[in-house]
Amino acid sequence: MLRRRTHNAGDGKDMIKQDRSARNVEYFDLTGQYESLRADILTLVDRVMASGRYTQGEEVERFEVAFARYCSVPYAVAVNSGTSALHLVLLALGIDEQSEVIVPALTFKATAASVCYCGAKPVFVDIDPARYTLDPMRLEAAISPRTCAIIPVHLYGQAAKMDEISDIARKHGLPVIEDVAQAHGGSFMQKKLGSFGVAGCFSFYPSKNLGTFGEGGAIITSDVGLYEELKKLRSWGNSERCRSFPGGNFRMAEIQAAVLNVKLGYLDSWNRERRHYAQLYRSLLQGETSGSLMLPAEYDDSEHVYHVYAVRHRRRDELRQALEKRGVGTAVHYAKPVPAESCFGSAARASQLFPVAAALAETELSLPLYPGMGEANLRRVAVALKSELVA
Ligand SMILES: *Cc1c(COP(=O)(O)O)cnc(C)c1O
Repeated sequence: MLRRRTHNAGDGKDMIKQDRSARNVEYFDLTGQYESLRADILTLVDRVMASGRYTQGEEVERFEVAFARYCSVPYAVAVNSGTSALHLVLLALGIDEQSEVIVPALTFKATAASVCYCGAKPVFVDIDPARYTLDPMRLEAAISPRTCAIIPVHLYGQAAKMDEISDIARKHGLPVIEDVAQAHGGSFMQKKLGSFGVAGCFSFYPSKNLGTFGEGGAIITSDVGLYEELKKLRSWGNSERCRSFPGGNFRMAEIQAAVLNVKLGYLDSWNRERRHYAQLYRSLLQGETSGSLMLPAEYDDSEHVYHVYAVRHRRRDELRQALEKRGVGTAVHYAKPVPAESCFGSAARASQLFPVAAALAETELSLPLYPGMGEANLRRVAVALKSELVA
């Protein structure tokens, strides 16, 4: 970094630039992806702008057909965000002020917030210590006479134990709504995630495995009644199931659907690339770390799509800072369990009631992993990480 001081000469500037690009690895970067798709996307966006129809038109319909087929289900309903997808399914199922809905204690808080939007109460269940998804062993104890639905989350791209969760739900006559916001294209027992429950809810926030250049979401289902209900609800329609709901606008913009129509064709190859990088991290980091670093678990029963490459370390915050100094960007998903947030509960109670989620929140570190990042960058992350672990 001494070079920085002598940067008045033209040569010096170039060296600094080189030096930075050679060393820094961003946690996430979408600009490369746009460069590679630019021509296709601009053509479609231009067509949308010229068509005079800007929301919920032909591109949205085309995307719904394509996405339903991709997930091997009959129906898909495109909406304006993943949170809306969850909210609308809960409304369509008649979830109201009397209801409780079971959600995992560690997820992005939208899962639990969508329950609150219906006036219902989220009931938290701790996560499995290795899979990090809703723990089926703790599920039954959380079911009460008020329970109306269960929302497992395929966290980080890892499939929840859908066989055991579905068995318990069936035994109690409860619908399962899958939160697939982090697992587009992932599968469990060769079946696409989102197609196990009565509905699967997706987010197309830009950083997700399939993303818009803005906001978006979708619901997939095999239930024609639910499908009809959702189509009404997303655009100010009323529903028999939720009479107190005044209606609202949850439509997807045409431009975003056009972007998704281009990107859906790449989802499988992007997920393969993610899995390849995860393999590479494993081969570079395994064993080297004398047990202080925990790598994500992989199971034969499912296909992890690595929305997040989540490792664990006891001194996570220190490690994160040290990596930042070495030019490696990282993230934390998530710094606390959802029931530790003040609107859901308290931190002290949450760590008592949900020890597994609390331990993950204290130790989780997300390493850079995204399509187009390149093996050289990934190796740079691994080298930086290993030097810190021996330091
Ligand atoms: C991103 C995300 C959502 C919310 O999606 P938005 O499109 O941001 O509303 C919900 N659940 C999980 C698990 C997510 O990761």
